Amino acid sequence: MTDKFTGSFTQQEPIPQTGIDAALAVMQHGRLHRYNTSGDEIAEAALLEEEFAAQTGAKYCLAVASGGYAMTTALRACGVGHGDTVLTNAFTLAPVPGAIAAVGGTPIFVGVTEDLVIDLDDLAHKLDRARVLLLSHMRGHICDMTALMDMCNAAGVTVIEDCAHTMGAAWTGVPSGRWGKFGCFSTQTYKHVNSGEGGLLISDDAEGMARAIMLSGSYMLFEKHRASPPAATFAQIKYETPNISGRMDNLRAAILRPQLRDLDKQATRWNDRYAVLADGLADVAGLKLPHRPAQESFVASSFQFLLLDWDKDKVQDVLRRCLACGVELKWFGGAEPTGFTSRYDSWRYAQSTPMPASDRILAGIIDMRLPLTFSLDDCAQIAGIIRAQVSAVFQTT
Ligand SMILES: *Cc1c(COP(=O)(O)O)cnc(C)c1O
Repeated sequence: MTDKFTGSFTQQEPIPQTGIDAALAVMQHGRLHRYNTSGDEIAEAALLEEEFAAQTGAKYCLAVASGGYAMTTALRACGVGHGDTVLTNAFTLAPVPGAIAAVGGTPIFVGVTEDLVIDLDDLAHKLDRARVLLLSHMRGHICDMTALMDMCNAAGVTVIEDCAHTMGAAWTGVPSGRWGKFGCFSTQTYKHVNSGEGGLLISDDAEGMARAIMLSGSYMLFEKHRASPPAATFAQIKYETPNISGRMDNLRAAILRPQLRDLDKQATRWNDRYAVLADGLADVAGLKLPHRPAQESFVASSFQFLLLDWDKDKVQDVLRRCLACGVELKWFGGAEPTGFTSRYDSWRYAQSTPMPASDRILAGIIDMRLPLTFSLDDCAQIAGIIRAQVSAVFQTT
């Protein structure tokens, strides 16, 4: 097969016109700071929070500077500080252990299964080693949340969800981010809505959210929030909580509000693309697709498959051949971290013990972005290229 794919794996769609118009309006009036309102004007940031809370069914929502900031704020609001251990996924992206390190904590890594979710058996063995789990729904794969919450509740472990890849997703119909005490979302360009940088934090916990709002840099202006706990909740918290500036501004909020209204439609478009790829790669010898259980409604902004127990050289051969055909695949098994593909043993500021069962899986994970600028035909072409190249190399094994 000689056809070459010419699309860009990093090109997202433009900001919708309604978002551009709303951003222009904010720039024209100049009140970009969320607490800079005129008369009874309601800030775009406050409206964004109110709308995202309603959309997810959360009582409270806080808009912040990044997904990473949402995670550190949630950890701090849960009282995690210097010297504390925090359970988290061995298979995730660097900002997740980074958030734990940022508050002075130490990650304890939990393994990954062939379906790319947290290994609940491994978690069961480690639950007594920390009182918080920062659970990363890495690449949008959601574990059995009912089982996980039962285990964590029984052990008194607080769950914070990293929903950077699960905005709009759910398990048994309950939105991702609504299972734990906090749900943390990113609105960075490569996630499900795009404001360049940005984050959202949701919770039903009044005290926790009051702390988060103070932490984010609300000064004593928390009453300007709309998706926030009542003012009385802040009575003591406002004196006890440091201001660790990380607010979202009205410009980003204005860009995001129309995108949130389109989230379900975009999720369908992502999943249509995923289905074409999954169809095209079903029954390829040597290639395994993660199983997606019926309880999981996912938003497929990326695509993963496994070349499990392959020779490293052969995996590299597949990557080279696909790249020559214009298909840019990322591999979590490389000896050196490149791009965003680091693993638990790349984060050397955090001690880890080898996890052979997870290493075997990480060594086989191939990852691909799935921007909405790809058409369904593009996805069929990409699947054809991967199928051909994997088959060609597999036959030489
Ligand atoms: C992007 C990402 C984050 C952090 O989001 P930022 O907004 O970039 O700080 C956290 N977790 C995962 C899995 C991510 O991919």
